[in-house]
Amino acid sequence: MDFSSVDRIIADLETCLETTREVSPTEELLVGVDLGTAYIVLVVMNSKREPVACAMEFAQVIKDGLVVDYIGAMTVVKRLKAQLEERLGRELEKAAIAVPPGTGESDCKTHGYVVEGAGMEVTNLLDEPTAANAVLGVENGVIVDIGGGTTGLSILENGKVVYVADEATGGTHLSLVLSGAYKVSFEEAEDIKKDNSRHKEIFASVRPVIQKMATIVKAHIEGRNISSVYLVGGTCCLTGMETVFEKELGIPVHKPANPFLVTPMGIALSS
Ligand code: ATP
Repeated sequence: MDFSSVDRIIADLETCLETTREVSPTEELLVGVDLGTAYIVLVVMNSKREPVACAMEFAQVIKDGLVVDYIGAMTVVKRLKAQLEERLGRELEKAAIAVPPGTGESDCKTHGYVVEGAGMEVTNLLDEPTAANAVLGVENGVIVDIGGGTTGLSILENGKVVYVADEATGGTHLSLVLSGAYKVSFEEAEDIKKDNSRHKEIFASVRPVIQKMATIVKAHIEGRNISSVYLVGGTCCLTGMETVFEKELGIPVHKPANPFLVTPMGIALSS
């Protein structure tokens, strides 16, 4: 699979965190809201399916895919929506959302209420790996989405999701390990972890947690004929993740240049 077009469009979306593309007053806009354990991200694409604006905020209002602070989540989504509306000069009326695989019906509804409470009609609700695949276009293989709280995976056969799973262990666990190893607060550990220039230095400390993530994936794909693994989600930004996964799984592992915004973009594309 050629990742260059994925890398290009994700790099384009990254620039839309700072800059805003012009949109006509009438063209249809595709909006995606990603309510994550660590970040809430809003992505807006135009009718040509190109990124036009993106906004995100660190927020701990979701835990293991469940909304634990409804008002807090709604407030952040409202704030990001207002920011983007101001930048675009357009009202955002509709959005798609995604939840971790296996999220129960009532929890899905709560995700929907957050977005509706912030003033947008929910046009689609999908699972996160399926959203990621709207960008990646994997026909056969496993998409592994490692975010703040969980390692989620979905197995695709002929472009269709045939199996999903989601287990606790995500970027938050890496930060907790670093907080202990460096004797710093969780927030400082997060900053150290997200500093790509320190990835080499921290790798030995976090390797066991990454191995655990790979073991989770291994247990779920055991006995299946899987030829490739695709890594997405903010935690996969960690340099060298793919090498540990490849060693543990014995299968080729692919990672786009920036795995962080793949799922949020896929949600928007599915709206
Ligand atoms: P979840 O999918 O578990 O609900 P989420 O959607 O908030 O959570 P993401 O936004 O995909 O998850 O990823 C957030 C995680 O990625 C956080 O733990 C964050 O610290 C981590 N992260 C972000 N950037 C980097 C980076 N450059 N290096 C390492 N980790 C990073």
